[in-house]
Amino acid sequence: MDKVTKSEEEWKKKLNDQQFQVLRKKATELPFTGEYVNTTEDGKYYCAGCGNELFSSETKFDAHCGWPSFYAANKESVELKEDNSHGMQRTEVVCKKCGGHLGHLFDDGPEPTGKRFCINSVALKFKKI
Ligand code: FE
Repeated sequence: MDKVTKSEEEWKKKLNDQQFQVLRKKATELPFTGEYVNTTEDGKYYCAGCGNELFSSETKFDAHCGWPSFYAANKESVELKEDNSHGMQRTEVVCKKCGGHLGHLFDDGPEPTGKRFCINSVALKFKKI
């Protein structure tokens, strides 16, 4: 996979302010405000920063947490990192291609994986199949 590398200035030009804050500065959008919280249509979710294919609607579920949630990710597309910020021990989910912050991974998801990828809507672009 060819990595996408841009300077902070270049990302600022490419992304809108909210996307920049989440993808490049690891901000979290407010719960229940994101565009894709309740999306149930069939399709794919791509990185809003670089277009990398990240998630499928087939693994999306309603976690009632206020963010789009998936029980699996496109394995080659995401990277997991230890995140000890804000006094919590969490696992950060990052786009492998552009390094953009997507959200966090938790162990309270449904079968078959038991995982919950809790992802910011603004970090995603949905395309219907
Ligand atoms: Fe990306």
